[in-house]
Amino acid sequence: MSEYNSTIYALATTYSKSGVAILRISGSHALKTLSLFNISKTLKPRYVNYLKLQHPKEMYIIDNAVVIYFEGPNSFTGEDVIELQVHGSKAVINTIINILNEQNFLRLAEPGEFAKRAFLNGKMDLTQAEGLADLIDAETEMQLKQAVKQVNGALAVKYEEWRKTILQILALTEAFIDFPEEDIPEDIINDAENLCTNLKAEINNHLSDNNIGEKIRDGIKVAIVGEPNVGKSSLINALAKREIAIVSDIPGTTRDAIEVHLNIQGYQFILTDTAGIRESSDIIEQIGIDITKRKYEEADLVIEIYDCNNYQKPISISDDKPKVKVINKIDLDSSFKQNDFLTISAKNNINIDQIIKELEKFASQFEITEESAIISRARYREHLTNALNFLEYFTLHKPIELAGEDLRLAASEIGKITGRISVDEILDIIFSSFCIGK
Ligand code: GDP
Repeated sequence: MSEYNSTIYALATTYSKSGVAILRISGSHALKTLSLFNISKTLKPRYVNYLKLQHPKEMYIIDNAVVIYFEGPNSFTGEDVIELQVHGSKAVINTIINILNEQNFLRLAEPGEFAKRAFLNGKMDLTQAEGLADLIDAETEMQLKQAVKQVNGALAVKYEEWRKTILQILALTEAFIDFPEEDIPEDIINDAENLCTNLKAEINNHLSDNNIGEKIRDGIKVAIVGEPNVGKSSLINALAKREIAIVSDIPGTTRDAIEVHLNIQGYQFILTDTAGIRESSDIIEQIGIDITKRKYEEADLVIEIYDCNNYQKPISISDDKPKVKVINKIDLDSSFKQNDFLTISAKNNINIDQIIKELEKFASQFEITEESAIISRARYREHLTNALNFLEYFTLHKPIELAGEDLRLAASEIGKITGRISVDEILDIIFSSFCIGK
């Protein structure tokens, strides 16, 4: 039995104590698994059945389950699927998994294999599959909205339309081969060139998006920089207490960068508290500083923080990164003023709102409109840029075979995004980031 048509199973929910756990079985032998639990009833597809699952050897009742049969192709994977909704008890889950595990017509699914099968069976394209992964990973409202749009095919439709347009231009171009060069009808040249010009403009427009989609998906990166003891960690704590929806401290050495995820107005911000940027002979500190420098380079926004009690000329790195400049510990010197600086006390929660306002203001540039389908991954951007480059090379004033090749390459770049070409080599990269049961 080949890897793709074997019947697979996995726990679709997390392995923990919970009200309900769902086990999913997909493949041609999915229905056969029911007999393992002594279910003889013929299940009507897409109907809910409340059934007792019996242990095949020891004959005791494992659980009362809701069992649903999705007959292929009308299922998530496009194959026959059985869903066992049982109580979320580790004992129930373990028992069922052990039974399934013993069958040689079944095997445990690889990470992302259900979604991969859905793709291979034409239930979704790659952007939809990746949108699904994003939806499951989404922590904020904006991430959710973007992912759901993608799952519903916003990008799939757009990119497929573009690919078809390229194929249409290709068809017009190939028609030239039938004409002696001097006889190429003017209207065909115009049609091909107009289609190409319009398409290039559309792709260009789509690419000039300020990387909104990637920012929403990956989070807006904010580096907090300043000398030691100016109050960087205190500021993160103060912000976290106010706005926190999700806090994930990534512990390392004290000199490592610490990351905190904040949800501000539906946008995910990833704040990094960094070690001070300064020269050091201490090797560990130097590692911390290198991390800081990298985090700084990756940052979309920088919060520079100074201590009013010990105000020194800013360490300011001159670059064009947007910055919020902050003087901390204003409680120690309420008269301290400095133009273009926010004055705060991280410890006493003074003016923390002003920093949040600055973050909101920054995020507002990444607003997504309801209808727009935006690039959510660097992978899409790369292929679109390549496609655009090939379209730029395309002209009817070169040998037609070469012009056709430009178009074929452009179409194949778009095809790599949606999976509308042979993509075996990129499938594993994409689906291996999914977790088991998806
Ligand atoms: P970091 O090294 O830049 O991360 O600084 P910390 O956040 O660890 O703060 C260094 C010290 O400054 C700690 O003792 C804090 O309690 C103190 N500190 C931080 N913010 C304030 C503030 O607003 N007012 C006062 N008085 N002390 C503060």
